[in-house]
Amino acid sequence: MKSRAKEESRAGILDGARVAEEIKREVAGEVARMKSEHGVRPCLVVVQVGDDPASTVYVGSKVRTSEELGLLSERHALPADTTTEELLALVHQLNEREDVDGILVQLPLPKGIEEQRVIEAIDPAKDVDGFHPVNVGRLALGQAVLAPCTPAGIIELLERAGVIIAGAHAVVVGRSQIVGRPVAQLLLQRDATVTICHSKTRDLPGITRQADILIAAIGRPGFIRGEHIKPGATVIDVGINRISDEKAARELFGDEAERRLEIIARRGSTIVGDVHPAEADRVAGLRTPVPGGVGLLTVAMLMRNTVEAARRRRGLS
Ligand code: NDP
Repeated sequence: MKSRAKEESRAGILDGARVAEEIKREVAGEVARMKSEHGVRPCLVVVQVGDDPASTVYVGSKVRTSEELGLLSERHALPADTTTEELLALVHQLNEREDVDGILVQLPLPKGIEEQRVIEAIDPAKDVDGFHPVNVGRLALGQAVLAPCTPAGIIELLERAGVIIAGAHAVVVGRSQIVGRPVAQLLLQRDATVTICHSKTRDLPGITRQADILIAAIGRPGFIRGEHIKPGATVIDVGINRISDEKAARELFGDEAERRLEIIARRGSTIVGDVHPAEADRVAGLRTPVPGGVGLLTVAMLMRNTVEAARRRRGLS
C-alpha cells in the first residue's frame, strides 16, 4: 500500500518518443502530398566539418530520418582543416541551388572556423536551424519563422500533452542562442509570462519555485533539485550530460539506479539531464525523461522546418 501511494505521487512522464513519431508521421504525409500534388521533394543538405564523433552521430541521424520520411538529403563531409573561406564557398553554392530547400551546418565547427560568419552566410529562407540573425530577429518580433528545432520541439511536446502555456509562469534556466533565448521567445508568443535565469541570477530556487513550467537548459548534470520545483509543475529537461560515476548515478536515479549502473558497466557512461530525476519525480507534476524526452524532438522538428522552408520558398500552399 505504502509503495502504491508512493507510485501514485510520482511525476507523469512526457513521452518525447511518442510525440517525435507523431510529428515524423505528419511530415511524411506532407512530403507525400507535396510530391503527388506539386511534383516537389524537399531537399535537406547537411554539412559536417571534421570528424567529431557526436557530430557524426547527429548528422547520420538527420540524413537517415530525411530518407525515412521521403525527403531528399545530401551529406557533405569536409576535412577538419577546411578554412572559413572554403566553407563559405560551399554555403554560397548551396544557397544558389534551386533544388536545395534546407541547409544545416552541423555545430560546433572546428576551432579556427568563424562560426558566426558561416551562420550569417546561409540564406535565411534555407536556414532550417533558425540561427540566422534574420530568423532570430523575426522570432523576437513574434513573426512566424523557421524557429530553432529544440525549442520548437519543446513547444510541441507541451501543447500535445495539453499543458496550458497561455497565462502560465514559465521559467527558463539558460540563455543560450540555441535553447534558452529562443524557447523563451516561443513561450512569450504563446502568452506565457516568461522569466529567463542564468549563472548570475540571484536566488535561483526562489524564482524557479514560482514556475508552472520550468525549462532547464544549463549543461550541468542533475542541477535542478526538488527545492527548485513548485509542487505539480511541468519540468522540461533539455540537458544531455554524460556521467560515469556510480555513486552519482545511485544518487540521481533512485529506483532506476540499477539499470543505469548496468549501462555504465557496459558502455562506460550514462546520460543524465540538467534535472535531478529522482527528486523531480517526487515534486513535479509532469517531467521529461533523459533520454527519451526533448532530445528526440530536435530531429523531428528539423524535418518539419525543411518541409516548411520548401513550401515557403517554392510558394506552395
Ligand atoms: P550553454 O552552455 O550554451 O548555456 C548554458 C546556460 O546555462 C547559460 O546561459 C548559463 O548562464 C546557464 N547556467 C550555467 N550555470 C548556471 C547556474 N549555476 N545557474 C543558472 N544558470 C546557469 O548550453 P546550451 O543551451 O547549448 O545547452 C544546455 C544543455 O542542453 C546542454 O546539456 C546541452 O547538451 C543540451 N542540449 C540538448 C539539445 C537537445 O536536442 N535535447 C540541444 C541543445 C542542447 P550564463 O549565460 O550566465 O553563462
